[in-house]
Amino acid sequence: MTKRVAVIGAGPSGLAQLRAFQSAAQKGVEIPEVVCFEKQSNWGGLWNYTWRTGVDENGEPVHCSMYRYLWTNGPKEGLEFADYSFEEHFGKQIASYPPRAVMVDYIEGRVNKAGVRDWIRFNSVIRWVEYDAEADDFTVTVYDAEKDHVYKERFDHVIVASGHFSTPNVPEYPGFDQYFGRIVHAHDFRDAREFEGQDVLVVGSSYSAEDIGSQCWKYGAKSVTSCYRSAPMGFKWPENWEEKQGLVRVEGKTAFFQDGSSKHIDAIILCTGYKHYFNFLPDDLRLKTKNRLATAGLYKGVVYVHNPKMFYLGMQDQWFTFNMFDAQAWYVRDIILGRIEVPADKQVLMADVAEREAREEASDDVKYAIKYQGDYVKELIADTDYPSFDVDGACAAFFEWKKHKAVDIMTFRNNAYRSVITGTMAPVHHTPWKDALDDSMEAYLAN
Ligand SMILES: Cc1cc2nc3c(=O)[nH]c(=O)nc-3n(C[C@H](O)[C@H](O)[C@H](O)COP(=O)(O)OP(=O)(O)OC[C@H]3O[C@@H](n4cnc5c(N)ncnc54)[C@H](O)[C@@H]3O)c2cc1C
Repeated sequence: MTKRVAVIGAGPSGLAQLRAFQSAAQKGVEIPEVVCFEKQSNWGGLWNYTWRTGVDENGEPVHCSMYRYLWTNGPKEGLEFADYSFEEHFGKQIASYPPRAVMVDYIEGRVNKAGVRDWIRFNSVIRWVEYDAEADDFTVTVYDAEKDHVYKERFDHVIVASGHFSTPNVPEYPGFDQYFGRIVHAHDFRDAREFEGQDVLVVGSSYSAEDIGSQCWKYGAKSVTSCYRSAPMGFKWPENWEEKQGLVRVEGKTAFFQDGSSKHIDAIILCTGYKHYFNFLPDDLRLKTKNRLATAGLYKGVVYVHNPKMFYLGMQDQWFTFNMFDAQAWYVRDIILGRIEVPADKQVLMADVAEREAREEASDDVKYAIKYQGDYVKELIADTDYPSFDVDGACAAFFEWKKHKAVDIMTFRNNAYRSVITGTMAPVHHTPWKDALDDSMEAYLAN
């Protein structure tokens, strides 16, 4: 009987899985029946923008954490699909930090070409997954929001590709319940223009803090104050941006900091991270990990050690994204097709995880971390027919990107890098990022 595979989520990771199976089928390989369940009405995952916050049209938590005017925060040369270049999609090389709409078009281009849309059931929320040891299969409970109907189906494998930047981590500080202004988590931040003319406090020191603060600055906030718990971001900030240690409390519209200083604040944006959150999984199937490069509980970063018939994609902290998801998807596909064997001894699986953790913990250096993840991508693609590409070249683009950010956080997106897939140099964008207020595809691609 044909095997059945359930893929949960049609974001970049889930779509990579569909493309991996389709590419095998294209070469004449017999593949299992693949069904992808996507709770949104369209594909693209986080890249599928919505103005909504809170719940979606079906009453489900909104998945999107992206916002208007978002441009990639790393060079596109680090994430390019090895089997579908930007040049193939756009018919020309494009600048290195595309806005969200351009990225969505690119993501869609590959899967439209592969013709896998029919494999996806949209508006279909996975409510629960159970493993039956006797039958050695999974029962998946699905809510079909279009038909307002709950049903169950059985699968031989489950691949979780539901992302981990959607369920916000929301801390509380003294005085929040009495604060006069708006307090919003990055997950619900949608449009920087809302904060025009305001004194904005950004809590956090990671990518969201850096980018949301920059968006507010670009679209006319009066001032930006960012505050960190352990280490400052330490960039060369514009003169109306100040970085402070530790928010202590707020009172009225004043924020108080660890160094004893205080500041008038109109709005607070919590860039305090996300949780790996799987409310559709029981304890025995549920991944529990921190946001790190060596994800806990995953052999080769994808096989769930406590039940190797179940897989997770894209659960790592991410330097590499799309091409890493591809490497993972091709690897998982080949396990399911019986081309790659997973060791039967659970101790061996756990030892693989422990080795990855120890290697990650060996250094705090950023270059080390980028190279670590690059090596992981290389390791996986070496075992499959995913087109090999110059991963070291992609690492080099990331190193350059880091340098450009250190020079000036408001100009790093004006730089261009060489594609490691086609070897072509990207053009410098026609408008400096800070002056490019229109984030549409037409504006970006205009010569
Ligand atoms: C604000 C922000 C900016 C980012 N910017 C960049 C960037 O510039 N460059 C970059 O490379 N990466 C960026 N990322 C990283 C991002 O994680 C990846 O690019 C990518 O979207 C991850 O893909 P994914 O498929 O693993 O997860 P997601 O994109 O999160 O997709 C998961 C999918 O699963 C679906 N789903 C979830 N739960 C269920 C359920 N129970 N039932 C059915 N379906 C479900 C969701 O609806 C969603 O479609 C950014 C992330 C954020 C939050």
